[in-house]
Amino acid sequence: MAQNGKHQSPERGDSPASMQLFARAILSMIAANLVSLGISDMTGIGGKTGYLIANVVLFAAFMTPILYVLLYRPMKRYISERDRAVNEANAVMQKQQATVRELTILSEMMGYINAEIKQERVLMSLVVRAKELLRAEYAALLLITGVSEGKAVFVSSDPDHDLGKGEWLLTGPFADVLSGFAPLRIDQENPDGLAFCPDGTRNLMAVPLISNGRVHGLLVLLNKHDGNFTAEDEDTLINFAFHAYQAIWLNAEITRMANTDGLTGLNNHRVFQERLAAELNRHIRYSRKLSLMMLDIDHFKSFNDNYGHQTGDRVLKELAATMEHFVRSMDITARYGGEEFVIVLPETPVEEAFMVADRLRQKIFNNGFILESGERIPLSISIGVAGFPDDARIHSELVKCADKALYHAKRTGRNRVCTYHETVVEMPDNDI
Ligand code: GH3
Ligand code: MG
Ligand code: MG
Repeated sequence: MAQNGKHQSPERGDSPASMQLFARAILSMIAANLVSLGISDMTGIGGKTGYLIANVVLFAAFMTPILYVLLYRPMKRYISERDRAVNEANAVMQKQQATVRELTILSEMMGYINAEIKQERVLMSLVVRAKELLRAEYAALLLITGVSEGKAVFVSSDPDHDLGKGEWLLTGPFADVLSGFAPLRIDQENPDGLAFCPDGTRNLMAVPLISNGRVHGLLVLLNKHDGNFTAEDEDTLINFAFHAYQAIWLNAEITRMANTDGLTGLNNHRVFQERLAAELNRHIRYSRKLSLMMLDIDHFKSFNDNYGHQTGDRVLKELAATMEHFVRSMDITARYGGEEFVIVLPETPVEEAFMVADRLRQKIFNNGFILESGERIPLSISIGVAGFPDDARIHSELVKCADKALYHAKRTGRNRVCTYHETVVEMPDNDI
């Protein structure tokens, strides 16, 4: 309480205190006049000089507290308030600098996303930039859906550091990040979960990668360079990861929509032409053989007439799915248009492509098409096969050759596979 009183007096008002001190100073001046007479008597200094000295000494002695109250304390208060304002301004500036850094890295990232087509490189850039932004030793990302199109993808900022293939990111507390949208921070003060992490993990932070209202995977940072990850770091990473992944996903989605056929999900005609041209260039450079198949459903018009276009659309989708499962991952499938499809088989001579085509034809024929009622409807396809460099060396000619071979298969009975070579042998006038 005593302390309170002491602190309160100047706050209650400096004016009464100053008045008091001022009054005391006046009184002491009067006293000084009296004392000066004594000094003058004792020291023998002349009456006027002694009187002056005594007045100056006493004036100074009594003015000090007055000056303290009137000048020093307000100055001190002013200085401390100024320091506080400077500190606050510094803190705001530091925060702004951090935000600018975050935005700069994010905007660089956006530029990169738009410029880079290769998905793995874009994801690697996300990982590396997140690591830089939050001053972590390592960063990694695991996608279980989303832009990775069904395949789990693991990208690590440092392939030499043993982070495995990211399986550990599917276990323990990480599984909760994937299922619950919640971020995760682990350190010595909150060590539950360290057991699930790679050796040498001191602390970590993980956030979900969200797009379209779904968690597609997670981004994890390991071992902050200075201390533990803070709640502020967590906010920064959540913001950064959300905006960057959202942009990556949107970009991938736009590319996918521009490249694929809406009904079947296969590559569209434009992508087929581009990829065939690119493959041919590669095969010319390395003197390799390539084959092209062109497929067409037999009597599809009457199928539509009998069962309706919606059922016809289901046939197209199922045929596309069968083709996708049937071919190798290096083969390129596309919807050429209508009920016609193409398959590019890199590194494949025509004889081999013929056998593949015939197996596919048999499969379609054996399966038929099952209506919703359970009734099985016969379904068949015809296929034309042409090869580079034997049949054609230019990509438009190769397409023409495959088309002619398909036409020949139709003319000679349907539900068959024909090579361009057969077409020329059987109909020598029908050269391209
Ligand atoms: P062929 O054995 O000679 O190929 O006979 P076809 O009846 O299959 O040939 P045609 O070219 O006369 O008819 C192709 C049919 O494919 C006509 C069209 O209605 C159908 N078609 C093309 N695109 C689609 C589509 O997207 N959905 C559906 N349901 N049918 C389509
Ligand atoms: Mg047809
Ligand atoms: Mg057709």
